[in-house]
Amino acid sequence: MATEYADLPQQRRIVTEIPGPVSRALHERRVAAVARGVGSVLPVYVARAGGGIVEDVDGNRFIDFGSGIAVTNVGNANPRVVARASEQLANFTHTCFMVNPYEGYVEVCEALNRLTPGDHEKRSILLNSGAEAVENAVKIARSATGRQAVVVFDHAYHGRTNLTMALTAKNMPYKQGFGPFAGEVYRMPMAYPFRWPTGPDNCGPEAAAQAVELITTQIGPENVAAVLIEPIQGEGGFIEPGRGFLPALAEFCREHGIVFVADEVQTGFARTGDLFACEHEGVVPDLITTAKGIAGGLPLAAVTGRAEIMDAVHGGGLGGTYGGNPTACAAALAALETIESEKLVERARAIGDALLPRLRALAERYDVIGDVRGRGAMVAVELVAGAGDRTPNPEALASVVRHCHDNGLVLLTAGTYGNVIRLLPPLVIGDDLLDEGMSLLEEAFARL
Ligand SMILES: *Cc1c(COP(=O)(O)O)cnc(C)c1O
Repeated sequence: MATEYADLPQQRRIVTEIPGPVSRALHERRVAAVARGVGSVLPVYVARAGGGIVEDVDGNRFIDFGSGIAVTNVGNANPRVVARASEQLANFTHTCFMVNPYEGYVEVCEALNRLTPGDHEKRSILLNSGAEAVENAVKIARSATGRQAVVVFDHAYHGRTNLTMALTAKNMPYKQGFGPFAGEVYRMPMAYPFRWPTGPDNCGPEAAAQAVELITTQIGPENVAAVLIEPIQGEGGFIEPGRGFLPALAEFCREHGIVFVADEVQTGFARTGDLFACEHEGVVPDLITTAKGIAGGLPLAAVTGRAEIMDAVHGGGLGGTYGGNPTACAAALAALETIESEKLVERARAIGDALLPRLRALAERYDVIGDVRGRGAMVAVELVAGAGDRTPNPEALASVVRHCHDNGLVLLTAGTYGNVIRLLPPLVIGDDLLDEGMSLLEEAFARL
């Protein structure tokens, strides 16, 4: 890509064992200081990062296929983000938008209202994290409808706060021991093509019919405030719902006055080869939650949606001390500008076009690869016991991931069964690094 990272060579380089001695020393300090509940996928401590490279404190340079979990879509320390955020930092760091407002907050909301799907009148609110955005979307939907029930799906991930734990499907590690959870949450089967009993082609329509039937018989649509879904499930294993599922759900919501909420926290901001993933099937959500990729790595999140729904909440009913922090807003404006000027939507598609055929070729060669899926720069492989046996294979996954980590590729996993490798490179990664990262992954399968 055009962006230069002059002082951070865009080259993989492994000069110590992984993790190296400086990282291991830091890790000892960490164990004595940091709560054990916080994990790290690859405990090499970071010194610098940019483009497609993460450099650790031992001088090792890793190819980045994780983007800090789909956050640094525009690249780490993106020059535009750094410049605009630095300028803001020097002017003022915080006033609290609820005390003294500032233009950056308004400008980010204007941009989100313009860029999110649908040309209806919209409003936005800015928050700190994805979980906080989801919580606020539920608050807004309940306030606007006067109803309480929230419908979510198998394999869903919506965060780690009390309400979002209830919305999240997977027990370990997200929920175990942390109950009681919030009430009025109802879970439906997910349109999971690879594991749908009657096959992937029937999956979308059949799963939609099931959800409609269950909502109708078990909850009553007149009691449902919101249907909340990730247009491609993230932590659940990059599950792209069967075709027709999302449009059918959106239509059902429209018929029954239910607020259709797309959680685009992981899929948003060019990641999937559309600016937002629900555009793929022309779905226009009533509310959309965003975070991760919004501000090039600074903490920011948002709820954007129909003006009449967003404005149903009484004055003072929404807010927070740090929500829409001025530096995070400046970073978001720079990130959004970068997505446009560097054509990162197109770039995400090109990344998918480069990765998917090679992953499909790997699946032909190795029976442990049960499924290859995803869109744009959000793609995954699901590992199983063997040909025709879909038993999850987390052991094969651990071996592949370890080889990649040891040889300089940051690689993340996902999935309810812990058997999905997910690829999330920064959208500004160079073609050479993309190619080399894929070669490392191919090598890891060859060694299985
Ligand atoms: C990461 C994620 C969240 C939670 O975001 P945080 O910023 O970690 O609170 C919510 N929804 C989805 C789809 C996510 O991927």
